[in-house]
Amino acid sequence: MEKHALLYEGKGKRLYKTSDEQLLIAEFKDDLTAFNAEKRGSEAGKGALNNKISTQLFRILEEKGIATHLVKTLDDTHQLVKVCRIIPIEVVVRNVATGSLVKRLGLNEGAELPFPLVEFYYKDDALGDPLINDEHCLVLGLVKSESDLEELRRLGREINRILKSFFAGRNLTLVDFKVEFGIDKDGTILLADEISPDSCRFWDTATKEKLDKDRFRQGLGDVKVAYEEVLKRILAQ
Ligand code: UDP
Repeated sequence: MEKHALLYEGKGKRLYKTSDEQLLIAEFKDDLTAFNAEKRGSEAGKGALNNKISTQLFRILEEKGIATHLVKTLDDTHQLVKVCRIIPIEVVVRNVATGSLVKRLGLNEGAELPFPLVEFYYKDDALGDPLINDEHCLVLGLVKSESDLEELRRLGREINRILKSFFAGRNLTLVDFKVEFGIDKDGTILLADEISPDSCRFWDTATKEKLDKDRFRQGLGDVKVAYEEVLKRILAQ
């Protein structure tokens, strides 16, 4: 399958049309951005690592019954995905308090949450992706009904349940993550975008070492080494 016209360029990926109007090619970029793109950088090989990591995780989720947009990996940095209309809600699920949650609510950094916390953020760069509640989602018309929001919450929790236990067996704590969903031509909600160290926080369970984009956000260095370690642990038998 060949890349046709560029449809969209985001911070971490480009999306291209293909000869099949139901399929797109996603290209994973080496670019890194943080703090709503105020901090920018690049890490050679990062796109290929995220493509591999995300593909593995989407396969694991598919096996457990989560419908995704992924069709297949094409090469190091490209994957074939189904066309869907992205719901402009970032679904964040958290197991441990850190990042914006600690800043907003004053919880202790690293505190385990009593249950997986699901939050919705409005996917809008100009507004800085604000935290929104259910009624905001409905006022903005981001979904049709309250039941769509319940479904997003259910999927977020289910993805968390599957991945948290998968990573626990690999000495990684899934601290939190962000997922995006789309609606395909039949009205089915599909997991879309990616799940990678760009969109998750992974801490080594024993040492608490950060193995995700916080290494870039906080200038800790060894970004690629950390992403390689995550892939190695995912592939470990
Ligand atoms: N996240 C993301 N994209 C965003 C915002 C957050 O992938 O635009 C992920 C982030 O990597 C983390 C989780 O969502 O795994 C929660 O992020 P948080 O709200 O703590 O934001 P931050 O501290 O990065 O501002």
